[in-house]
Amino acid sequence: MENSSATTNTAESLRNPKLVPEYEQNEDPLISHELAHQWFGDLVTTKDWGNIWLNEGFATFMETVWAESHFGKDTADYDRWEATRQWFAMRSLYDKPIVRYNFEESEEFDGNAYGKGGWVLYMLRRQLGEDAFYAGLKHYLEVNRGKKRDDTGPSQRRWKKRHTQTWTRFSNSGFTERARRNSR
Ligand SMILES: [Zn+2]
Repeated sequence: MENSSATTNTAESLRNPKLVPEYEQNEDPLISHELAHQWFGDLVTTKDWGNIWLNEGFATFMETVWAESHFGKDTADYDRWEATRQWFAMRSLYDKPIVRYNFEESEEFDGNAYGKGGWVLYMLRRQLGEDAFYAGLKHYLEVNRGKKRDDTGPSQRRWKKRHTQTWTRFSNSGFTERARRNSR
């Protein structure tokens, strides 16, 4: 749980180093996810529940950033492949936009907010390149710290303008415009 300045995990995350190899799965994805929420969720939070992917998508994306940095690209690629496989198994999500407002209580925390949101950010990183992507992230966090966000504010518009071609291609892939249309 990503309480501001104090992430709390379950006792499952505390393992005797000697016993770690006996566990099938490590706790790195959970720890890196919750740590990422200190920035995406706590420092900057969403305007409303419909934009929850800005918290969960970024935190999920950061899981694979950690995996890539600590275990290497192959492990991160495998994790992304696994996330994709899980998403494709959830057919009910196919026609739902990432940003939406027609949900029952807590339904917004779905595979679109997490796995697909993480994938969309990974695609954006690939399209923009490392430097532009991380410069954009830094800008997003600096300008919006302590505020509630959706993805349409003035600073996002300025950044999108600077990377118009990529952003247009990305938008045309459907996710932002379709999300807005469906949320009206
Ligand atoms: Zn989360």
